[in-house]
Amino acid sequence: MNASMIKQLKQLEKLARPLEPGEAERTFLLNQVGAYANQFINRIGTAPAYTASENGRLPNSFHINENGAAIEDLLPLLHTHVDTPGVAPTSDRFLGYIPGGALYHSALGDFLADLSNKYAGYYFPSPGAVQLENMLLEWMAGIVGYPDGTLGSLTSGGSLAHLTAVVTAREAREIAGERIGTAVVYLTAQTHHSVNKALRIAGLDQCVRRFIPVDDHYRLETAALLQAIVADKQMGLNPWLVIGTAGTTNTGAIDPLPEIAQIAQAHGLWLHVDGAYGAFFALCDEGRQKLAGMEQSDSIIMDPHKTLFLPYGTGTVVVKDGRNLFNAFAADAAYMQDGAENDVISPADLSPELTRHFRGLRMWLPLKLAGVAPFRAALAEKLLLARYFYERLQEIDGFEVGPPPDLAVVTYRYVPQRGDANEFNERLMQALLADGRIFISSTRLGDKFVLRTAVGVYRTHLDAIEQALTVLEETVRKLEK
Ligand SMILES: *Cc1c(COP(=O)(O)O)cnc(C)c1O
Repeated sequence: MNASMIKQLKQLEKLARPLEPGEAERTFLLNQVGAYANQFINRIGTAPAYTASENGRLPNSFHINENGAAIEDLLPLLHTHVDTPGVAPTSDRFLGYIPGGALYHSALGDFLADLSNKYAGYYFPSPGAVQLENMLLEWMAGIVGYPDGTLGSLTSGGSLAHLTAVVTAREAREIAGERIGTAVVYLTAQTHHSVNKALRIAGLDQCVRRFIPVDDHYRLETAALLQAIVADKQMGLNPWLVIGTAGTTNTGAIDPLPEIAQIAQAHGLWLHVDGAYGAFFALCDEGRQKLAGMEQSDSIIMDPHKTLFLPYGTGTVVVKDGRNLFNAFAADAAYMQDGAENDVISPADLSPELTRHFRGLRMWLPLKLAGVAPFRAALAEKLLLARYFYERLQEIDGFEVGPPPDLAVVTYRYVPQRGDANEFNERLMQALLADGRIFISSTRLGDKFVLRTAVGVYRTHLDAIEQALTVLEETVRKLEK
């Protein structure tokens, strides 16, 4: 009996052995992946920023089989069918949506985090990982200008960060039961849709939502906000939450945060700032001046996977009075009792997540290896490049620009000599995609179809912006013929 069990165990051990490559095999794999990484990066400068996919289907060679395959066979598959088609977010000519880029140093941080698989949910199993993340959160709270006493969470992105903040504000202000229907949320049509999604997930869809008008720079009109709050109070409603955006996705506009904060404070509202895109610009002087007032908020989100250039999957929420975040998310489990007594607060008590990726390492390693100075310079450069693009575009006949950029998003459209401008710009968008040298995205502002150039990849420098201007000019001339 025992002997047959042992025999079976030995056999299974042997069959499972490929899960544990030996040193020579590990070195080989790492070299192959390293060579692929170098080739990938060397190609970025000449590869298209957008590649239409010919036939979206992955070949059968992607399917999962009983037996393993060789890395030399898999990397070309990855290159052809995954890394090439669609948008190239690492390209210096990726100027769409909100760019970021993904730092090489972060990929190494992920490698190390995945290697040790340190458990970043609780202090006891991983005191170093938890302290490292807490330290990064304090560093980010410092960028915002928050005083001591904040707590935060490294999330998978801005959407989860919003959800975390909305739930925190809900619990802090006891918005539950009958109080949901009379609680009022103030935002604008430029507020990111993830806020609405967060409210819905948080069970707050029945809250009253007031969309406050924006001015001709797409910034919230504070006089209208004040008016709406006063009117709502008179009606017996409960003005609860106001969202200020520090850099909208559409146009990069920064709402007048000091005025909003003043109104929020006077009327007892929770001020939540959406700095997913904009907050990290406070690392450079110009950005810090423009973002003044965000430190007066009660909570803020900021996305390292945008303007700190980290790979996707890294967002942040910081709550000024950290106790509110802890009260909203702290939980106990019997099986977690070992080592529960310590004074370091654990990520699992500040987040909907329990087991989570050790996200801190992908952020800490680049900041340590490069230092903060290059980040400050890159962000200042993006602001200046956007302004340069804005000025140069006006020298090309036919282009009509939106307001001067608050941050690094420029909106514009081409007004053709004949015909409908919206229809022309839709065609222009399609022609730019077919060309592929640059990738920009479009949006709607009022009834206008407009194009956006968002300068945000750390690799984007003057030459890429010059090329974007050239491609735009060439393409409109071709379409005008
Ligand atoms: C990107 C973005 C979000 C959503 O963040 P994700 O990381 O995509 O979930 C929210 N607000 C603004 C202003 C954004 O730019």
